[in-house]
Amino acid sequence: MPENSPFIRKLGVRGVIAPMKRPLATGSGSVSQAPLALVDLECDNGVTGCAYVFCFHAFALAPTVRLIQELGALIEGETLAPIALSDMLRARMRLLGQQGLAMMASAGIDMAAWDALAKTRDVPLARLLGGDLMPLPAYNSNGLGIIGAGRAVDEARELVEEGFSAIKLRLGYPDARTDLEVAEAVRAAVGGDIRIMTDYNQCLTVPEAEKRASMLAGLDLEWIEEPVRFDDYAGYAQIRKSARTPIQLGENCWGVHDMQKVLDAGAADVFMPDACKIGGVTGWLRAAGLADGCGLTLSSHLYPEISAHLLPVTPTRHWLEYVDWGQPVLKRKLQAVHGHVTAPEIPGIGIEWDEDAVARYAVD
Ligand SMILES: [Mg+2]
Repeated sequence: MPENSPFIRKLGVRGVIAPMKRPLATGSGSVSQAPLALVDLECDNGVTGCAYVFCFHAFALAPTVRLIQELGALIEGETLAPIALSDMLRARMRLLGQQGLAMMASAGIDMAAWDALAKTRDVPLARLLGGDLMPLPAYNSNGLGIIGAGRAVDEARELVEEGFSAIKLRLGYPDARTDLEVAEAVRAAVGGDIRIMTDYNQCLTVPEAEKRASMLAGLDLEWIEEPVRFDDYAGYAQIRKSARTPIQLGENCWGVHDMQKVLDAGAADVFMPDACKIGGVTGWLRAAGLADGCGLTLSSHLYPEISAHLLPVTPTRHWLEYVDWGQPVLKRKLQAVHGHVTAPEIPGIGIEWDEDAVARYAVD
């Protein structure tokens, strides 16, 4: 057996709830702490692949950890071959359906398996995938929730001062006029050279989304993200008919099969898969191929550490979403330099747990 084909010895997973520097109020509920499932995939060559799954809500953490544990038992003893493992788990989930926590758990294992393979080959993940490390344009997504115009102006300035030329503003106030006032205030505060992404987190109806997109049209926004329920593809196509700002969608697509439905419906101008929900590295690579085929730009959603390796092998790469939500438990903090993020020149993804912090934020 070649030296570079190790076997999976054991899968470990731990739950932590990490603090967030800027809690985030969205149009569909708040995120004030980061529930993370930390995956350690141990191989018989001494390498451990690491990845985390962001669980959104504390109540989803324990079930996700348990699910990852159970799936881990299915792959112990298998060869470290991430695509084969991913396909095997998909086949095992056919009766259950590979969506929701089931997809997140299997994608967490996929990401850890790719990390282990890159470490085994002694290269950064991007190089294992045939790409190179490169500075990627990133927008600062740490904050700018539903906090009113006054606080939004202060926070927008802070986010730009952290070295970024692009920021994301959450909208979805109860009335359209407040959305416009907040967006106008932020645009005036940061000036015309800063790119502003906006995100409704699925909180509008289609007619309301059409109305608000029309009101915001003069503000030179980079995109309007998830104005309505993520899987109302016909609704998105309707909104796109009149919108003068690109419509962004994709973070809630469970795998490339959902993405294909978006394409078939003509639902998005720009697309942003979530490295976990799209199916880990394996799912992302398939999404990148679909996007290349139709010239659709791909931006990343959350998971900046691994996205910094995936965007370099994405022909239609666009923006990296920069959030620091995993950083409290990471030894190496991914830094943005002049608004750009580059994956570190070390084997794997570059994820190494800060064990003191993990112990501090551990939950049973
Ligand atoms: Mg979003």
